[in-house]
Amino acid sequence: MVSPLSRPLTETDAEVAEIIQHEEDRQQNTLELIASENHVSVAVRTAAGSVFTNKYAEGYPGKRYYGGCVNMDAIEHLARERAKTLFGAEHANVQPHSGAQANVAVYMAVLKPGDTLLSLDLAHGGHLSHGLRVNFSGAMYNVVPYGVERDTEQVSLATVRRLALEHKPKLIICGASAYPRTIDFAGFAEVARECGARLMADIAHIAGMVAVGLHPTSIPYADFTTSTTHKTLRGPRGGLILCKAADAALVDKWVFPGTQGGPLMHTITAKAVAFGEALRPEFKQYQQQILANAQSLAESLRSRGYRLVSGGTDTHLMLVDLRNVHPDLTGKQAEAWLESAGIICNKNMIPFDERKPTQTSGLRLGTPALTTRGMKEAEMKTVADLIHRVLVAGDDEAARVKVGAEVRALCAQFPLPHA
Ligand SMILES: *Cc1c(COP(=O)(O)O)cnc(C)c1O
Repeated sequence: MVSPLSRPLTETDAEVAEIIQHEEDRQQNTLELIASENHVSVAVRTAAGSVFTNKYAEGYPGKRYYGGCVNMDAIEHLARERAKTLFGAEHANVQPHSGAQANVAVYMAVLKPGDTLLSLDLAHGGHLSHGLRVNFSGAMYNVVPYGVERDTEQVSLATVRRLALEHKPKLIICGASAYPRTIDFAGFAEVARECGARLMADIAHIAGMVAVGLHPTSIPYADFTTSTTHKTLRGPRGGLILCKAADAALVDKWVFPGTQGGPLMHTITAKAVAFGEALRPEFKQYQQQILANAQSLAESLRSRGYRLVSGGTDTHLMLVDLRNVHPDLTGKQAEAWLESAGIICNKNMIPFDERKPTQTSGLRLGTPALTTRGMKEAEMKTVADLIHRVLVAGDDEAARVKVGAEVRALCAQFPLPHA
């Protein structure tokens, strides 16, 4: 007699199985241009769906609060060692449940409530966990934001230095969610040293490129490097902290028991698989193709008259300023029209945007997910053309339906990873 718990989901819960199937279909049949998203391998999904979800493993390898942790220790040790090798770091904590949780642990490790931190303004590409008023980070700490310069739309270290010397922050944060240019970690480290601050580099978006040396690394320069594992790194949803051996105990203590309970061991298992994939030569080729595709997409959009914030991109993402081609079009409306044609992206503020965050004048586009599907420079030209046609079509639904059919046909040529 087979236990009822052994029956497949399609038999036990048709309602949920159907929604999952719809999501698989949606992902297969749409172009994913959200810069923070990706499609993981079947191997990563197998690990994430493994029996490791059944186990409590509070503590760390060799120091657990529960019995039966022999395999938990083995997998967490492997994940940590692979993360250290991948980034050249002295210490890795693979337990943070997400990127935001990784940041929470670092703040708790170095800041007291009311202390000052210096970070990139959300409206200029920063992340809400870097001090937005409605986030705990903005509620707990005295946040001084730095922005990009009006003329270059890039971060100026001279401005960061001026603010740092004036406000004497205890922590400086570099790293961003919607900033298309290289981050000068060495330069930030110099400023931090000068004003006596500690430096946290949040590489959530660019971790894949950092891992393979296609973006300068933060590891030798930053006291703490935090990341997600699900963006360009192409692992399961989760977080990661890398630091020097001297801070290892402090970081570990503030992840557990400081800010989290039991680790998500199935996710840590999937992180180990993703780090293993990232250590292979094909992963560097993948990251190179992400960058080549971003250049191709950027160039194709520019050739249709679109202005890109800061003039272009050094990374996997770009911010499109819609105003010069479509002065009356908001990012919100553009996002909705594009979605109706199967092109998925997000509206985004551009620096010094005159529209509200709920409207915006820009779109953020990224190439990691399309690159995972095997698309190359030629397809990026097609994608730019499809985007332009949707935005020109505007209210003309028939024109958008026609683009939608072409989107589906393109998607059919590039299947998602599947079992
Ligand atoms: C995505 C992102 C995060 C947060 O990651 P979550 O896993 O969603 O909590 C943190 N920092 C930056 C810079 C990010 O882009």
